[in-house]
Amino acid sequence: MYEVTSAAIKTLAGQIGFDKVGVIGPEHANGPSWTRSVLVLALATLDAALDYEMYIEYNGRRRWYKFVYTILEAQGARLARVLREEGLRAEALTFEDSFSFIDLRMAAVQAGLGVRGLNDLVITPEYGPRVRFTALFTDAELEQDQPVRDYYCLNCTRCWGACPTGAIGPQGFDRSQCIAEFVPTPEMIARQQKLLTFPTPATRLQCRFCLDSCPVGQRQGTFYFDVVASSAKKG
Ligand code: SF4
Ligand code: SF4
Repeated sequence: MYEVTSAAIKTLAGQIGFDKVGVIGPEHANGPSWTRSVLVLALATLDAALDYEMYIEYNGRRRWYKFVYTILEAQGARLARVLREEGLRAEALTFEDSFSFIDLRMAAVQAGLGVRGLNDLVITPEYGPRVRFTALFTDAELEQDQPVRDYYCLNCTRCWGACPTGAIGPQGFDRSQCIAEFVPTPEMIARQQKLLTFPTPATRLQCRFCLDSCPVGQRQGTFYFDVVASSAKKG
């Protein structure tokens, strides 16, 4: 029998492939009525290849979908399955409905995984903002984490200067200007076609300037999709 403690579940989540895990109470989410704890699970996306997006049709809707979400969903489902095998109730988040269940950025801050930076993203000490989140609802009573006390966004405003559209700045985050939008207006589609890289008609690289410009947790190196993007520009 698996010992159901916060520490044991965090270890298990790490073995499954999550890079950071925190626990918050059910009052911070809108999960199933039996929820007693919510696991907030993070995956580092140091390589932009994890953030590439595909054009797909799902339940009659055509939309862009991010590859890393599939990894988060698969790992979350695997963790939920192990917990259910131990007699717990456990449901992992799917991204189709995630907004109605939980605000992942607020949950990550509450779980002590990072702080909200000037780029409006969650900045973690290890990976900066290069991290994506999911959640898992369970009826296990787990020890909860608390928000961190240090504020390690450096207030350097590099992210503001790097944003190609002015979507982030002293005024905060303006979603209508952000070219990472999944359900774009015709005007935004035109802006995306001008500013984003499309390796194929059905794939595109998401704008990551507000992530990659952040010095917190920055890793050196040239990653696969940087090479693809620079080749596409030259071609
Ligand atoms: S994703 Fe791009 S457009 Fe959106 S806020 Fe970040 S840098 Fe700006
Ligand atoms: S680039 Fe600077 S201001 Fe922006 S989130 Fe990172 S540390 Fe904070």
